[in-house]
Amino acid sequence: MNYDYDLFVIGGGSGGVRAGRVAAVLGKKVGVAEESRFGGTCVIRGCVPKKLYVYASKFAEEFEDAAGFGWSVSGAKFDWPTLRDNKEREITRLEGLYRKGLDGAGAEMFDSRARLLSANEIYLEALDKTVTAERVLLAVGGTPYRGEDIPGHEHAVISDQAFDLAELPKSIVISGGGYIAVEFAGIFNGLGVETTLLYRGEEILRGFDNDVREMLHAEMEKKGIRVITETVFDRIEPGEDGGRISHLSNGETLTTDVVMFAIGRVPKTDGIGLAAAGVSTNARGYIEVNDYSRTSVENIWAVGDVTDRVQLTPVAIHEAMCFVDTEYKDNPQKPDHAGIATAVFSQPEIGTVGLSQEQAAERFETVEVYKAVFRPMKHTLSGRDEKMMTKLVVDAESRKVVGTHIMGPDAGEMAQLLAIPMKMGATKDDFDRTMAVHPTAAEELVTMYAPSYVIKNGERIG
Ligand code: FAD
Repeated sequence: MNYDYDLFVIGGGSGGVRAGRVAAVLGKKVGVAEESRFGGTCVIRGCVPKKLYVYASKFAEEFEDAAGFGWSVSGAKFDWPTLRDNKEREITRLEGLYRKGLDGAGAEMFDSRARLLSANEIYLEALDKTVTAERVLLAVGGTPYRGEDIPGHEHAVISDQAFDLAELPKSIVISGGGYIAVEFAGIFNGLGVETTLLYRGEEILRGFDNDVREMLHAEMEKKGIRVITETVFDRIEPGEDGGRISHLSNGETLTTDVVMFAIGRVPKTDGIGLAAAGVSTNARGYIEVNDYSRTSVENIWAVGDVTDRVQLTPVAIHEAMCFVDTEYKDNPQKPDHAGIATAVFSQPEIGTVGLSQEQAAERFETVEVYKAVFRPMKHTLSGRDEKMMTKLVVDAESRKVVGTHIMGPDAGEMAQLLAIPMKMGATKDDFDRTMAVHPTAAEELVTMYAPSYVIKNGERIG
């Protein structure tokens, strides 16, 4: 059978562009369809604009901190349109690079929504054209959950829109307790917006180490963010001057300029023809895949956020590379999801690799915890009341460091580097015989000699 393409990729985001480009470089005939902008969530409405806004939001504190070092910075003013427009310029540049990469590799790009008509046929809506492909890769990603079950949800914005607000609000309530919610709370608070974080659970950042969760909560409050837990919206209604009135389950009423939802993401599978092709999804609507990212259909694969695995850009890229290795290089590769380092660009920042103390305590008989909470050196002169934390979680039997958790400046950078020795199976003794770099905050990681406490059979002792 002759097909138009060896590989057709639906979705030009992190996973799709990588797979399409690398397969094309290998000489395969590749088509990639993107319904919005090449680059996908990460480049256009995720990691990249988010990090740029985090940078922007930190200047206010930097200006304040400068005083203790002898600087006086007066008259500093922030202009939201400048930030928003400069961000737009940068993501447009990156989008261009993504297109250039695909073009240079010889892949064909389609600015169109695509859907499956069958396992080998793809319909390109903008062109009203059907193409055929031997293999299909679904890399359509996810989209923010819009809270359809909340009365008045249409009065809230989602992260996609929060980047491009017409003007900077004076006040905002952000609902959610995951990393996107806490990052946006830090951004808006840093930019001078009166910020409330509303979370239905007991503590923010579910799944992270409990010390990290509690400490971030406390540090965010110190910075002026109001954190309300165990509370949800009863309803949201329009207020005066384009504002919003939120009626909360705790009986309170909040009046803010903007309400933002960061209450989770859902796979973007609506109307992409999964049923027509016979691709099955799990109970949560994610595309089901095997260890090699193959779907229930022999010639269709799925990578990235549309699968129910780990939803991060480097993971989508890794899954895409494994797919290409397996299918086009005769080198079967299963994506490895163990020990993925992550950063939360909250303020203060979080870097984490491996197991939380709670997870380690469930898995190992005896766990040693090494923990230091201290004032970062910069704040000795700035006077800022902000703490940093470094924490190592060690399996006492194997001596392996199974979890590292850092909160403070550059924690994300540290997590990336810590992920290497941890992937190699480094023990606490390896950490101990590593010379410190002085004066740094990271030196704490190699100078915590005695356990702060031990957990035996789930019980904390000492
Ligand atoms: P995507 O990048 O979402 O790409 C999917 C693409 O498919 C989209 O461009 C979409 O328009 C297109 N598409 C969908 N349906 C169709 C169709 N039918 N036809 C044609 N095209 C279609 N990850 C990190 O690692 N670090 C971070 O700091 C980070 N921060 C984030 C911050 C925010 C606010 C958000 C929302 C996400 C963040 N992420 C971060 C997650 C990261 O963006 C995703 O994990 C990553 O983009 C997933 O890549 P993907 O290829 O699976 O999907």
